[in-house]
Amino acid sequence: MKIGVIGVGHLGKIHLKCIRQIPEYHLAGIFDVDLQEARKVSDDFGVSAFETLEELTASAEVFCVVTPTTTHYAIAEQLIRAGKHVFIEKPVTRTTAEAKKLQALAEKYDVKVQVGHVERFNPALRALEDKIVNPGFLEVHRLANYNPRSTDVSVIHDLMIHDIDILLHFIKSPVKEVRANGLSILSRKDDICSARIEFENGAVANLTASRISVKNMRKMRLFQPDAYISIDFLEKNAQIISIDEEKKDENAMRLELEDHEKYISIENIEGPQGNAIREELEAFYKSIKENSPVLVPLVDGIRALALVEQIEEAIGSQRDVEEFLHMKSDKV
Ligand code: NAD
Repeated sequence: MKIGVIGVGHLGKIHLKCIRQIPEYHLAGIFDVDLQEARKVSDDFGVSAFETLEELTASAEVFCVVTPTTTHYAIAEQLIRAGKHVFIEKPVTRTTAEAKKLQALAEKYDVKVQVGHVERFNPALRALEDKIVNPGFLEVHRLANYNPRSTDVSVIHDLMIHDIDILLHFIKSPVKEVRANGLSILSRKDDICSARIEFENGAVANLTASRISVKNMRKMRLFQPDAYISIDFLEKNAQIISIDEEKKDENAMRLELEDHEKYISIENIEGPQGNAIREELEAFYKSIKENSPVLVPLVDGIRALALVEQIEEAIGSQRDVEEFLHMKSDKV
């Protein structure tokens, strides 16, 4: 299957490396508006660099869009109208309105679109897929060093969206209320955000994302009726502390409660090691080849983006309140 890559910056090069490891794909070419960089990548990877998107479009049937988020819509629209299957990096577009237009187009032109919510392919999460059931409380931290890439969007679009996608994958209930605070420190958009999401079913998630942190961290802690699960997306491992009525394994600890006893067991999970980007691209190939549903469809990208927008709205109204209070205190 001939594949083309659009945008060969930081992540585009990683896509190229992964594509080379997937024998089912034949790398047809690349396109980047930075023609000098494109030529360099062309030499390094031994792949043709096309001078226009139109030329590359005619040379392949599947495409990876790995350009800044603000350009995703225009590029994907052109590819879909040409009848091509498109893998679009996250966030799928800048707004839900743009993503919905792409969805309508994908249906009209009968092409497949997958969104790059790559944490779904994180080995630690994959190993837990059937163990996360009905989480009631989630505490999430995604912290990263400052990097001027991706500052065309806020930290919510850039980093928090990974956790938002996972949250919405496991909590099958509408969002009831969103509260959030955000601050822009080094870029013009929010660089740090804390959000509290409450769902109709009572589940609550506290999310923190920062791109101005001195250390990197990607951790999610989930509490559900029978277990506490912690996932480290960076280290690709997890721990499940489960509470059972009966002693399931010999190392289980007995817990004496008022009128009965329970057993606590600890399970450490090392997910099958693998490359999440390669796996998402392999999955996309499979769904095209077998004409089966894609694992992370456009609707999931739209759903995540809608919650990003709700969080940004909540930050906006919080700022209005703060400004109002500030004005009042000026008058006192
Ligand atoms: P980058 O700035 O390193 O690279 C972007 C490249 O796109 C540059 O080479 C630039 O010249 C090129 N470009 C810009 N406009 C273009 C256009 N109209 N047509 C063709 N090329 C164009 O950025 P990056 O870090 O590689 O991020 C790219 C995308 O990947 C963003 O949407 C980002 O959110 C996403 N991303 C996802 C993850 C993840 O975990 N899945 C991680 C990093 C980045």
